[in-house]
Parts: sequence; structure tokens; C-alpha cells
Amino acid sequence: MIITIDGPIATGKSTIAKKLANEIGYIYFDTGAMYRSLTYALMKQKIDLDNQDAIKEFLNHFDLNIKIKPGLRRYFVNGEDTTDFIRAPDVTANVSKVSALPFVREKLVHLQRELAKGVNSVFEGRDMGTIVFPDADFKIFLTGRPEVRAKRRYDELLQKFPEQMKGVTLEQCLSDINARDEYDMKREASPLIKADDAYEVDTSDISPDEVVFKILEIRDSRKTRLRHENSKK
Ligand code: C5P
Repeated sequence: MIITIDGPIATGKSTIAKKLANEIGYIYFDTGAMYRSLTYALMKQKIDLDNQDAIKEFLNHFDLNIKIKPGLRRYFVNGEDTTDFIRAPDVTANVSKVSALPFVREKLVHLQRELAKGVNSVFEGRDMGTIVFPDADFKIFLTGRPEVRAKRRYDELLQKFPEQMKGVTLEQCLSDINARDEYDMKREASPLIKADDAYEVDTSDISPDEVVFKILEIRDSRKTRLRHENSKK
């Protein structure tokens, strides 16, 4: 059983996916962290992100490993633990560019589908319900007002990276997230869009617990409806 959660930045995808997975005993996968781990590793190797041949070559030896423990998840690239570095502002500034490359997506989509085999999972990202798991059992698309999302991201970054955030304003944060969302929505390969059969949930004015409750409500009423429809066949 696969549940997908997609949506733009700071709509609460990771928090919600984690809580939902916990609640129903599924494994949660953060696919943004995978694109971030690759971006970090490329930057660490000082590979020019405009040099597609060099990125392709790196991908030939790219080994991404995720170690999952309850409440904890670490991302290893070629044996190196990248987890503590992948959310840094310099990685964030480059990840959309790397993730827009079709051959990068091909590699990571393959990995994501492998990870989904034989487990009940919640996959969170941008193209989970459209490209990676078009036949997922249940799809959610999270949205939120830009100002609310910018404030969330601003507070989170301020807490995690107080040094790098010195002098950064909320307005800059808003324009950064708008720019990254736009890049993700306008790219040719797997753009961020809502799958036709995804349920949209606006997270602006409700807590993460309430969002999860709402998702479970939608899932249950959908199940009842499907059962009813099948019994009429
Ligand atoms: O979710 P997060 O902000 O960590 O994702 C970082 C970036 O990775 C996104 O802005 C997007 O460019 C890329 N991404 C993607 N496809 C996914 C998940 C993330 O292109 N499934």
C-alpha cells in the first residue's frame, strides 16, 4: 500500500508524512532529502552543476543508502553520512537545478520505486502521485498560503541556521520559496503539479495533527464510498 503526499515548499509535507506514517504503522520516505543528498555530494566533490557530463559520471558511482530507525533517518552517499548538511542554505539554493535534470530523476525515481517494494509506505515529494507512483492507493496534495509558508520556513531556518540567516528577511524568504516553487512547477521533467486523483488539503490554518486527522477522515470516507460502489457492481 502506497500513500503519496506532494505539494510546494513548507506546506508541512515532511511533518505530515512522518506523523501519518507513524499513526498507521507505515514507513515514511522523504524524497526531497534524496535530491538534497545528491546535490550536497556533488557540491562537496566540487562538481560544476552546469556540467551535465560530470554529473552523469558521478551518478554512475552514486550509492544512496537510507538507514531507518524509529524517529530517526540518516542519508548516506557513497558511505558518507550527509544528513546534517542537506538542509543548509547552499544546498537548498542548488537542489532545484540538480533535480530538474531528467537523468538525475531517472536514477532517483528508480531508487524510490525499489524502496517501495514490499512495504506499506508514505512517500513525500513533488512528483510522487503523478510520475513515481501514478497507481498509488491514496494521494494527497498539500497547499498553503504563501505568507504562511514563508513564515514557517523562515522560523525553521532561523532555528537551524542562525548564523547563515543573519540579515535574511521574511520577505527574502518568501521570494526564495516562490522562486524555487516556480522552478519546480515550470521544469519540463516531472513538474510539481497535483495529480488528477489527489485530494487537496490546505494546511495554512490547521495544526499538523489536524491535517493528519483530516487525511485519515478523507481516506476512511473514500474507503466506505469505494466499498459501496463495489457492492453495487
Ligand atoms: O522537499 P524539499 O524542499 O526538501 O525538496 C528539495 C527540492 O528537491 C525541491 O525544491 C525539488 O526541486 C526537489 N524535489 C523533486 N522531486 C521530489 C522531491 C524533491 O524535484 N520528489
